[in-house]
Amino acid sequence: MRPVSHVIISTGVSLAVYVWLHSISCAFFCLFAGVLIDVDHILDYFFCKKRIPFSYKELNDYCKFDVEGKISVIFHSYELVIVLWIVYTFFNSRVLLGIAIGATVHLLCDAFANPFKFKSYLLSYRHYHKYERKKFYVDGFFKDKK
Ligand SMILES: [Zn+2]
Repeated sequence: MRPVSHVIISTGVSLAVYVWLHSISCAFFCLFAGVLIDVDHILDYFFCKKRIPFSYKELNDYCKFDVEGKISVIFHSYELVIVLWIVYTFFNSRVLLGIAIGATVHLLCDAFANPFKFKSYLLSYRHYHKYERKKFYVDGFFKDKK
């Protein structure tokens, strides 16, 4: 999913969170987490290319078209979201609640919008397949590209 879509969706969810809880910190961190989880794409780029991307286009092209490469996107994982919710239940912090909501919404949006198998958002699944990106696409993805 494109960053602008995450900004729009996370802004809407953050506003709803604010109306629900009247907590600026919860709403802010919901927006913060809902958008900035994509920072792990920059980390992947850095570890793959051994440099930072010089432009958004360069990073976007890498994310969309480098299908033969590896992808770890460590923040895009159901495991992380579950840990965030567990940590929130222990500390009952509005900041942690905002981060958990934002991360959950981000992950669900990506899971439904991107051409990856739903289970590919399990970090353990990606690790099992040695982070080889081509293993995570939905069936028929490459057939559609020919
Ligand atoms: Zn994402």
